[in-house]
Amino acid sequence: MFFGASNGVGILPTPNSGFRTFHPVVDQDACIHCNLCWIYCPEGCIEKETGKMVVDMDYCKGCGICANECPRKCISMVKDGEQDE
Ligand code: SF4
Ligand code: SF4
Repeated sequence: MFFGASNGVGILPTPNSGFRTFHPVVDQDACIHCNLCWIYCPEGCIEKETGKMVVDMDYCKGCGICANECPRKCISMVKDGEQDE
């Protein structure tokens, strides 16, 4: 279960809110599941699903905090439309 706006907890009032230009892409092979991205995401839109860190792109605002905090640097911020999640 995501704890972000899709469940009434996050900040963004509507999906995407129209201003995101970058989105996070997780290198699942390098991820050590420390959950720091989950802890720091201000939108609560990261969740661990079947052993993978998954981002709810409807509510990710592209701030890059998750990528900045990841100790393995396995989250890349990619321009929207240039790479699938
Ligand atoms: S870019 Fe920001 S809003 Fe999106 S998943 Fe990372 S920390 Fe959360
Ligand atoms: S912060 Fe990085 S290593 Fe930790 S769970 Fe998130 S993606 Fe994986």
